Amino acid sequence: MTVPIPDSFRALRVHKDDHGIHADLQTVPTADLPAGDTLVRVTHSSLNYKDGLAVAGRPGVLRTYPMTPGIDLAGTVLHDDTGTHAPGAPVILTGWGIGERQDGGYATLARVQSQWLVPQPDGTDAAWAMGIGTAGFTAMLAVLALEDHGLTPGDGEVLVTGAAGGVGSTAVALLSAAGHTVTASTGRTEETEYLKSLGAATVIGRDDLTALTRPLEKERWAGVVDTVGGTTLAAAYASTRTHGSLAVCGLAGGSTLQTSVFPLILRGVNLLGIDSVTCPMPRRRAAWTRLARDLPAGRLDAVTQVRGLSELPALAPEILAGRVRGRTVIDVN
Ligand code: NDP
Repeated sequence: MTVPIPDSFRALRVHKDDHGIHADLQTVPTADLPAGDTLVRVTHSSLNYKDGLAVAGRPGVLRTYPMTPGIDLAGTVLHDDTGTHAPGAPVILTGWGIGERQDGGYATLARVQSQWLVPQPDGTDAAWAMGIGTAGFTAMLAVLALEDHGLTPGDGEVLVTGAAGGVGSTAVALLSAAGHTVTASTGRTEETEYLKSLGAATVIGRDDLTALTRPLEKERWAGVVDTVGGTTLAAAYASTRTHGSLAVCGLAGGSTLQTSVFPLILRGVNLLGIDSVTCPMPRRRAAWTRLARDLPAGRLDAVTQVRGLSELPALAPEILAGRVRGRTVIDVN
């Protein structure tokens, strides 16, 4: 089957020029796409914290300009030089540097590497995949890492920090679906009912954690999914139970970790790093299969808003200010 390739496409492009760094919706010639063996007709993307930084013109995410941000995309294959994915195949792409080092998902067309693409799990669609996106995928990797290190339902409280955010919300839902007793930590205690609706058994304030400043605190958490870093992570680490594990995902509250080795050497606590960008393909496929099982379409509807490409410049400062609840799907059409 040959699918016609359009001459141009629509994209949100971030430019750096005499007017500073700014994001504009543009029509771009298809010939301007980066090198790659596969062309994807993008239908949906999503808004992650990193995308907020990129669209708002903050340094550290986009490596060159002009660039199309969007670290996630979902759509259908138009053409794959390698023959791996048939034309029309529904696919998902998160990470691998799209929306950072090369053009990403805030466009109706993307040229990428075939080996980066995950087939859309049966019974799911592009909107579902982007409701999950990098944030939900990262939460899944965090839960898998905790399980790999022995966490099983019934072990005790599992803490999720930054719980009302994208990674946090999905982690709460996934842990709850797997039968864990979830404690959600949030700076927005007005989101208590929301977090309980996702499956949190207990909701605690952000300050309840950061009040724990000693190198070893009373043991409480059987496992931790941390999206915040900084003093929050230090507190969670100091209060993790003997042989418990922390899956460390984010830095929404700070990139510095000031702590001691005591939980490592006196309690055998495991600090586990999570990197969704370079996650190997077998793990990716396993994570997406589990996501389709545990968070089927509809499960995240209440925590997902759908917005258009043109709304991104207004949404970016909101996610950076921690005012976006749950997940934002971008319908790029
Ligand atoms: P969101 O902005 O959706 O969520 C972050 C949450 O962190 C906020 O909702 C808030 O939760 C909390 N938070 C924000 N600011 C502060 C602060 N100053 N102090 C304490 N808590 C704060 O972002 P995402 O969920 O998309 O991403 C979360 C983190 O994970 C980011 O740092 C992101 O870069 C990282 N990340 C890492 C990945 C990886 O591969 N390792 C992949 C994806 C994301 P609340 O309101 O509940 O307090």
